[in-house]
Amino acid sequence: MLGFWFRIPLWQRVIGALVLGVLAGVFWGPDATGIKWIGDFFIKAIKMLVVPLIFVSIVGGVASIGDLRKLGAVGWRAFALFIITSQGAVWLGLALGTLFAPGVGVDTSMIERGPTPQPNDATAIDMILSIVPESPVGVMADAQVLPLIVFALLVGIGTVMAGEEGGPVVRLFDSGAAVMQKVTSIVMELTPFGVFALMAWVAGTLGQDALFALAKLVALNYLGCLLIIGLFYVSLIRLVAKLPIVDFFRGIVDAIAVAYSTASSAATLPVTLRCTQRNLGVSRSTSSFVVSLGATINMDGTAMYLGLATLFGAGLFGIDLSMADYVLISVLATVGSIGAAGIPGAGLIMMALVFGAVGVPLETIAFVAGVDRIMDMMRTATNVTGDATVTTTVAALTGEIDRREMISADDI
Ligand code: ASP
Repeated sequence: MLGFWFRIPLWQRVIGALVLGVLAGVFWGPDATGIKWIGDFFIKAIKMLVVPLIFVSIVGGVASIGDLRKLGAVGWRAFALFIITSQGAVWLGLALGTLFAPGVGVDTSMIERGPTPQPNDATAIDMILSIVPESPVGVMADAQVLPLIVFALLVGIGTVMAGEEGGPVVRLFDSGAAVMQKVTSIVMELTPFGVFALMAWVAGTLGQDALFALAKLVALNYLGCLLIIGLFYVSLIRLVAKLPIVDFFRGIVDAIAVAYSTASSAATLPVTLRCTQRNLGVSRSTSSFVVSLGATINMDGTAMYLGLATLFGAGLFGIDLSMADYVLISVLATVGSIGAAGIPGAGLIMMALVFGAVGVPLETIAFVAGVDRIMDMMRTATNVTGDATVTTTVAALTGEIDRREMISADDI
């Protein structure tokens, strides 16, 4: 029985749970609230991962950026492209969220709300002071994400500056990241149960409007990702790298398929490497450096989604956001996408960072968690396409690509 359960790929179990959850919710009506605790259990387990995951992946990420100096031309170009595309992606998410207002119109009075953070009361000076961790341990204990990121960045920079002596710490964090990925995959096994309970709760207590709002969010997530690929990546490959589009996508189709089905950039890494080297002719050194760095810090689909989801939550609970809030979201969503590990559900975890800063209730997370996996699959496919795009573009700009090795339409 257990063998049968685990033989079905996780994503199929999750989609089955989603459909059954909606049906159960329609059938049970408001009684479905009785099983919401299973969803809360799942979300709590994900939250448990936030602090250790952010900490190990940011320190590890910065430690690998330390190599940028060694790689000179390649490194800085890659880093600049990562940041520019992430920023473009968040603003695209914000534009879609503003234009289509997916969360507006749902009656959320049934949702019990915990205390909502009130960031707007704080002055600019308070905000600057609040990002300095008074005690790193206290910050971790209270899961204060922003000061935690600051501390992690400093530790990362310190490791790079320590050079050889910092080596053992780098290895410790690399191994910590590997262990945390395993812990995450254990928690992810709870997904089908959490998704079932959360969808039943949403469908049963909040009704059709809520389901419609979620469907709109999923559709916008797919649209946003397709726009990132169709506008940003196609332009980079065509106009900057000056390579044929069809050949490029043909070359990375395996990586896209693996990313979509695993919802993990990290798990897709070996396939992305193989595709960029074998099918696109990118040199070994450039591809291994840029693709691995990209899998950790470059997540445009996630950045776009964080912007979109924040506006979804704001619409759901009628929170007005100012232009200054949008700018704050754009910065935090970029930081969040850098801090997110390349594993399933990482984008969901990062929502807490952005929501808390602009006063969007954290209950939004329980609301969207039921449909997160299907959005995650598309986000990850976008993230991986972005890694391959930046790698190929940088390689083309620095002469690290052998165009004769690029598979062309004629070879197939
Ligand atoms: N699952 C995504 C990835 O691995 C991150 C996310 O959840 O958005 O790239």
